[in-house]
Amino acid sequence: MSETRAIYRMADRAYAAFSCQGTAECCSLTKTGRQPWLWPTEWMLLARAVQATPPRPDGGCPFLDSAGRRCFVYSDRPFGCRTYYCDRATRRAREPSRAVAQLLSRLASANLRLDAAAKPLPLLQLVTGPPTGRSVRHPPSAPLPRAPGSGLAGGPARE
Ligand code: SF4
Repeated sequence: MSETRAIYRMADRAYAAFSCQGTAECCSLTKTGRQPWLWPTEWMLLARAVQATPPRPDGGCPFLDSAGRRCFVYSDRPFGCRTYYCDRATRRAREPSRAVAQLLSRLASANLRLDAAAKPLPLLQLVTGPPTGRSVRHPPSAPLPRAPGSGLAGGPARE
């Protein structure tokens, strides 16, 4: 988990030249058809918040506040949220795609060292329970009791 946080800090530094206008449009996951994929250690950072959060009826990320404008897990938001390249980003800096690819590879390696079967899963799959009732579905390769210690394996952090 500490390595995941370190990777997050490096991702934030890579994107320091950009500023988000905070529209939360990219968090309307069903509407955009895109969502972050989380590795198990990323999921663990969010697990407590997931248990207290019902799915949103509008298909938006369940980590949005009731007004649908603010991420209430912002300091622990997944890698894919930190590195999402938004067209609205101000400043004309180039997307740090190389740094992102290296960090994603490091995130994957850190997880695979903990569990050789680890794989990233899409955020909505992680927080949405079966149709008959809400429950948190944990990724099979990342059971919460493994604490103290989810991008794509070698691919993009958002699909
Ligand atoms: S975790 Fe936060 S930043 Fe990421 S999609 Fe959800 S609300 Fe948006």
